[in-house]
Amino acid sequence: MKIEHITDYTVLNNGVRMPWLGLGVFQVEDGQEVIQSVRHALEVGYRSIDTAAGYRNETGVGAAIKECGIPREELFITTKLANSDQGYESTLRAFEESRRKLDLDYIDLYLIHWPGKDKYKETWKAFEKLHKEGYIRAIGVSNFKIHHLESLKQESNTIPAVNQVEYHPLLNQKELLQYCKAEGIQLEAWSPIMKGNLDLPQITEIANKYGKTPAQIVLRWDLQHGVVTIPKSVRKERILENANIFDFALSEEDMNAIDSMNKDYRFGPDPDELLF
Ligand code: NDP
Repeated sequence: MKIEHITDYTVLNNGVRMPWLGLGVFQVEDGQEVIQSVRHALEVGYRSIDTAAGYRNETGVGAAIKECGIPREELFITTKLANSDQGYESTLRAFEESRRKLDLDYIDLYLIHWPGKDKYKETWKAFEKLHKEGYIRAIGVSNFKIHHLESLKQESNTIPAVNQVEYHPLLNQKELLQYCKAEGIQLEAWSPIMKGNLDLPQITEIANKYGKTPAQIVLRWDLQHGVVTIPKSVRKERILENANIFDFALSEEDMNAIDSMNKDYRFGPDPDELLF
């Protein structure tokens, strides 16, 4: 698989094309901050934006999309259902609210943000309905472990198109990645650059060898594992830096070296412990 351009994409299990690189906007303030970040990203060639109802910046994301002048069909917009809105009717309502804030006719990818305790199967039925009605091009999940995915499979014939999970060299999710590949679920990395905690000697050494930055090395490692990646930055120069990952390839040896850094270490919560 060759990934050589910022517009390169993976094809999801329902045929929808999803860019390998997107901009994350978690903890980016609504209004000017998020508008600027999205604007910078679109200017340097990003076409995918990852927001969530819980980030409270869908309005700003929508405003940036409106002003950018890029045809809607070239953009790939993801948002997520907040945990508190899980359930059939509440999902339908929450989706409408997200769509209104984003001011879009349709969303490219809608994700169940966290599995939570016991509502995700009911929630998934509402996702299937919205997908069937054409309001969402692809439906997926986030923070689902293998047992959640297996349990969802018992209830529904619609396999999630995407599973967005914490994924980086200290948490390489080897089993989950293998499982998702076998099931036709695209894995997507959140906190791909470990929230900026990139000061790791193994990564620095590889970065020096390729004349790249640690962030670029880690993001390239995602792509070569077939994982979609969505680094967040509000700084123009870093948004550009994080996109300059298509002009080099890590050797098998360096891929293996990064794989061996795994510590099953999470910067975020364990999905089994976030039960609201
Ligand atoms: P990231 O791993 O993307 O790291 C972002 C941090 O790294 C920011 O502090 C940023 O600072 C800094 N940074 C950005 N680029 C560089 C660089 N080149 N060199 C050094 N530091 C850099 O963390 P996130 O947690 O934001 O994850 C990315 C996205 O994933 C989120 O924005 C969100 O869209 C999604 N996400 C999804 C979750 C889920 O539950 N589904 C949970 C968490 C995130 P600055 O902005 O100042 O540049």
